[in-house]
Amino acid sequence: MKDWKKGIREFFFPPRCIICDEVLTLEERGEKLCAKCLAHIPFLEGEQCVQCGRTIAHKAVCERCALEDFPFSMGAAAFSYGVMRKPIAYFKFQGYRYDGAELGGLMAEYLKKRFPDWIEWTDVMAAVPLHPKKQKKRGFNQADLLCRRISAETGIAYMPDLLRRMVHTKPQSSLGAAQRRENLKGVFALAEGVCVEGKHILLVDDIFTTGSTLRECSRTLLRAGAAEVRVFCLSVVEQEEESHSV
Ligand SMILES: [Zn+2]
Ligand SMILES: [Zn+2]
Repeated sequence: MKDWKKGIREFFFPPRCIICDEVLTLEERGEKLCAKCLAHIPFLEGEQCVQCGRTIAHKAVCERCALEDFPFSMGAAAFSYGVMRKPIAYFKFQGYRYDGAELGGLMAEYLKKRFPDWIEWTDVMAAVPLHPKKQKKRGFNQADLLCRRISAETGIAYMPDLLRRMVHTKPQSSLGAAQRRENLKGVFALAEGVCVEGKHILLVDDIFTTGSTLRECSRTLLRAGAAEVRVFCLSVVEQEEESHSV
């Protein structure tokens, strides 16, 4: 783009940090993060639930996951949903789709830092799919954008459209936990002609909310013969955030 055009655009829409939304200073322009976020990316740290990645103290799994019996064997998230609420809203709903790649880059960084063995472990990465109708409306699938960048940064193989969403369901956010589960039965299928037998699959999504979508996707993969499924999300809704609707 010509410099003057860029200048005008930046005058009206100054570039902002993709994490904290602060306007970037002149020195920070060209980066995606402000100096503060860059110096300390607010990744989840400390002790996390091995099943969903949310913060817990002195236990292996959080209370929810202890009761749920999820079919995926492990789970991790790079950020708490509180930190990612705004970036995800911009990225998904306000046309900042290219932030998706940057957020995927942060996920890759987190994976390398915290779970380097998962990179070795994974045979193929799968994105939680949107129904084709919804994807057409949005123009992209957020999980797919995240996967593409994670794959580029880590070398993990990624197969787009490995999973398909066969049924157009009500938005999960409008439903309670039990309804969410019911709403999703039989919704996902494997792409035709794909074999996942004996494979270790890393399933990726933007938010771990109740885990019901991840549960159904994992089930579909395991029924098709996958050896093991782990989930990796950009963010996880922490226990204390659960009362806020997502
Ligand atoms: Zn920032
Ligand atoms: Zn958990």
